[in-house]
Amino acid sequence: MFIRILLGGIVASLFAMVITLSIVNTGKTKDLDTRLAKATKQIKEQEETLQKLEEVVHAIAEKGKGSSHSSGAPHWEYEGEMGPENWGKQFPTCAAGKSQSPLNIVGPFEKSTTTLKADYKPGVLKVLNNGHTIQVNVPPGSTLKVGNESYELVQFHFHRPSEEQIDGKPMAMVTHMVHKSADGKLAVVGVLMRESAVQNRTLWSIWKNMPAKEGPEVEVASVSINPATLLPESLAHYAYEGSLTTPPCTEGVKFFIMKSPIGIQREMIDSFPFKLNARPVQPLNGRKISAS
Ligand SMILES: [Zn+2]
Repeated sequence: MFIRILLGGIVASLFAMVITLSIVNTGKTKDLDTRLAKATKQIKEQEETLQKLEEVVHAIAEKGKGSSHSSGAPHWEYEGEMGPENWGKQFPTCAAGKSQSPLNIVGPFEKSTTTLKADYKPGVLKVLNNGHTIQVNVPPGSTLKVGNESYELVQFHFHRPSEEQIDGKPMAMVTHMVHKSADGKLAVVGVLMRESAVQNRTLWSIWKNMPAKEGPEVEVASVSINPATLLPESLAHYAYEGSLTTPPCTEGVKFFIMKSPIGIQREMIDSFPFKLNARPVQPLNGRKISAS
């Protein structure tokens, strides 16, 4: 912005010069015309420079925001040229990884002995459309105990249809609750969502406030939500080792897919801004799925 002010100053002083010239050289019209033409040309050049500098400043600002469209960062989508089959070209782990998510969950299962205990707290709604999903950022203080290990709920987001399948079938949607431990390990709780006539008030609050277009986080000061209301009553689950389901598909992520789905109304499924934002199921590659 300081560049704009600086160049604005230069442009203004050139204008002042033109006015001064017109006062001093009233008798020398031809000479004045030449000088005026020259000054006008200089102003135009300065304006062009200003325009170019503004473009640079804008590009830097966009890069700072982390927008994938104007920063030159690798771009990916759910369909077409940039779709999941081609993610590996820019994000090698997506193609070469051997523990990728999501999975089709089918037996036989090992017995899961992991106990889950969620202690989520209410907080002000902070929601964004990141171009790939609707994400709710969670303030510090909501925790998940995985056995003796403690994780903090960082954010949750939605996929349509559900990325995970049960016996080869996806559900209408899924909520992924993303947790991080103090040493940076990730654990995702997946809550499958099936069509239901019953309204979930928390989902309703999110849907009412979610931005339809990609953009920065919106804080809705008047709305408080408790992520606990998006969990089923029972935390009985399927468990496996997996990866981020979006590029860069980083592995070492613990997945806990809840056996009980929660309900979501048809009109909400239909009004979700992403018609398809689910990665296809990935090969098991010898991994074991356990069930509690
Ligand atoms: Zn997800």
